Amino acid sequence: MTDKNNDFGFSTRAIHHGYDPLQNNGALIPPIYLTSTFAFPTVEYGAGCFAGEQSGHFYTRISNPTLALLESRMAALENGEAGVAFSSGMGAIAATFWTLLRPGDEIIVNRTLYGCTFALLHHGIGEFGVKVKHVDMSDLIELEAAISPATRMIYFESPANPNMKLVDIAAVSDIAHKHQDIVVAIDNTYCTPYLQRPLELGADLVVHSATKYLSGHSDITAGIVVTSQALADRIRLQGLKDLTGAVMSPQDAYLLMRGLKTLALRMDRHCSNAQVIAACLQEHPAVEWVAYPGLPSFPQHALASRQMKLPGGMIAFELKGGLAAGQRFMNALQLFSRAVSLGGAESLAQHPASMTHSTYTLEERERHDISEGLVRLAVGLEDIADLLADIEQALQA
Ligand SMILES: *Cc1c(COP(=O)(O)O)cnc(C)c1O
Repeated sequence: MTDKNNDFGFSTRAIHHGYDPLQNNGALIPPIYLTSTFAFPTVEYGAGCFAGEQSGHFYTRISNPTLALLESRMAALENGEAGVAFSSGMGAIAATFWTLLRPGDEIIVNRTLYGCTFALLHHGIGEFGVKVKHVDMSDLIELEAAISPATRMIYFESPANPNMKLVDIAAVSDIAHKHQDIVVAIDNTYCTPYLQRPLELGADLVVHSATKYLSGHSDITAGIVVTSQALADRIRLQGLKDLTGAVMSPQDAYLLMRGLKTLALRMDRHCSNAQVIAACLQEHPAVEWVAYPGLPSFPQHALASRQMKLPGGMIAFELKGGLAAGQRFMNALQLFSRAVSLGGAESLAQHPASMTHSTYTLEERERHDISEGLVRLAVGLEDIADLLADIEQALQA
């Protein structure tokens, strides 16, 4: 199994990659190595581990067999060389930024970003001498003009959280790679490798909040980076080991691998449910606008069809009557929970301006294309008739 990985399809890899029960006492399910530290046969061996000359596990903040299996499985799914596991998506993003950016460097980021990533940039690394430049990455001319000799990283989400705007991953990667030393990094949380594989389109690094679809059951926080072996080694030995210490627990790695087995099945259902709800919203007279990549009216529908296998489970929309109408709608929901996060079985609704994107000031939200009335739906796995009935009765309110 392990060696022939690339001959197998996505779900087969998600279920089997990197593990042979017959090498593990026949245990069908990989053991969880609940240990913080590892014994050395000799002092010399231990010294070799610390010097990087001896392969082997020595402390779980650096590596652990359960984490290593998850990391290789995620690398196989993203079609990258290596993965690094973290205790949260923000752990993965922070470790990546702190490892790869130095004072004097520039990072170019998309206009709209997840709220805590925005805060990390502006209240974190931006205050330590890294210049943060926002551009609207749907405008490739604006992007190219923003690149300078100090640019070290281009970073974005596609679709962007929360407004659903897409970035053409292949085109951005082509532009970036005309210049030396620019890492193209993308937050692939909304899509997962089942819907979109940025490394195959030319990006250099993928981060995930594995809290969301990858684990899929809203019961852990977790993060993952997948990139080249060389970058993964640097992020592990600096960003993970020393700069953040944001290591995933082996127990969570087990839950995440359990989630991965059904990723393809779950994503198909999230997408088919969301497609129906988006179409219903679009038809409804109370709705001002809907952003969902699967709607033919979506401005980047052609790009969505090109770079995503399916349009995903996230919807952004605004009601006529803006914020007040949106609040009435959300308070009337009975099956959807009012909660942040996404990617679990349960359908959720939230208000980015007062919740996930309250790290932006009002003026910043205006400038970064996050409208006050925007409602974000994370469509779950329930029966579509029940979800539709809940949306329709809440729209009546
Ligand atoms: C949730 C989320 C994050 C942060 O991940 P955590 O696991 O909550 O730390 C980053 N990016 C996106 C797009 C997210 O939705």
